[in-house]
Amino acid sequence: MRVSTRISTLTGGGSDGWDLFYKARRMKRAGIAVTELTIGEHDIRTAQDILDAAHASARGGHTGYAEVPGVHALRDSVAARIAARTGVPTGRDNILITPGGQAGLFAAHHATCDEGDRALFIDPYYATYPGTIRGVGAEPVPVPARPDHGFQPQAGDIARLAPGARSLLINSPNNPTGAVYSRATLDGIAGVCRDHDLWLISDEVYDTQVWQGQHLSPRALPGMVERTLVIGSMSKSHAMTGSRVGWVCGPDAVIAHLITLATHTTYGVPGYIQDAARYALELGDGPVEQVAAPFRRRRAIAEDLLARQNVVRHSPADGAMYVLLDIRATGLSGEDFADRLLEAHHVAVMPGESFGRAAAGHVRVALTVEDSRFRAALATLLAFAAALA
Ligand code: PLP
Repeated sequence: MRVSTRISTLTGGGSDGWDLFYKARRMKRAGIAVTELTIGEHDIRTAQDILDAAHASARGGHTGYAEVPGVHALRDSVAARIAARTGVPTGRDNILITPGGQAGLFAAHHATCDEGDRALFIDPYYATYPGTIRGVGAEPVPVPARPDHGFQPQAGDIARLAPGARSLLINSPNNPTGAVYSRATLDGIAGVCRDHDLWLISDEVYDTQVWQGQHLSPRALPGMVERTLVIGSMSKSHAMTGSRVGWVCGPDAVIAHLITLATHTTYGVPGYIQDAARYALELGDGPVEQVAAPFRRRRAIAEDLLARQNVVRHSPADGAMYVLLDIRATGLSGEDFADRLLEAHHVAVMPGESFGRAAAGHVRVALTVEDSRFRAALATLLAFAAALA
């Protein structure tokens, strides 16, 4: 039987760059002690009290269909969080609860792009971006952000590709680069969006993991509230990756539009998960800082080790749970370097090529294992690079 080309062409053909990840998993299953610094998954689990809240809600009967846009109490909590963090008046009607940030990214592109529209995104990028854009029938158009600019996208580069485009997807704090976009960068981005009448889709799922500088939401910039859709999630901030709960925040007319989409796709998020998310948000910043603390420590370990050598270069990670390392001095591609490191030393990192052309010759190291093991694995990687250079 014939299956749809929309899905079979989703990844754009060729390798999706995840071969190394699956190879590391196979080696682990075969009993080899691989240190995995690959995906953005915490080394802690969701806190017990958040699980208790989910349990109590489910036991209390919140197991039927929940309201499709999200339960009022959670939409109110998310709106209050956003208003408090950005100063932009935000209410329930500006919020759609989604099964994680990924579903929010898909919904936001569906809300803004029609078949064949050009949708811009910044390269290096989170691996699902081009497929998400293709998934709504739009054409993904990468805009390179370069290492010599600390991976801050330049307004001129975006403006060159903007004529005729519908939307621009950005991500700060950034996966995989760790860049936190400066006020100047965001002002430049906002200017291009206003000049070219682009929707701005702002993926802010790492907004609680900032090590240097400050997270700024472009929705708060002049003239942006009407054209910005913000993607948020409980996954990274509260170590709730498996609960699949996030949101889209945007103009109420767009949220109404998206409720129609949700009715025909996800039909909402389980009520007891939403109650647990609301419970977690109402706890305020303390638990969020606890979840972020290990990444802050390991980022400092990485900076310390990197400062003691001069083969591997990098732009310091100002946020998120990764460091992106430039290994071009070894003469290898990111893919070859990652593969040989895995074979020789059983340390798994992601080839930069999985995150776009602008990250070629780099590897992404996730800050996701216990501190002493992390230090040892990164020291091994650096010694391996030094031996090759
Ligand atoms: N956006 C970015 C930049 C990510 O790194 C991730 C996950 O790693 C997501 C979105 C999706 O997160 P979730 O769907 O778990 O909220």
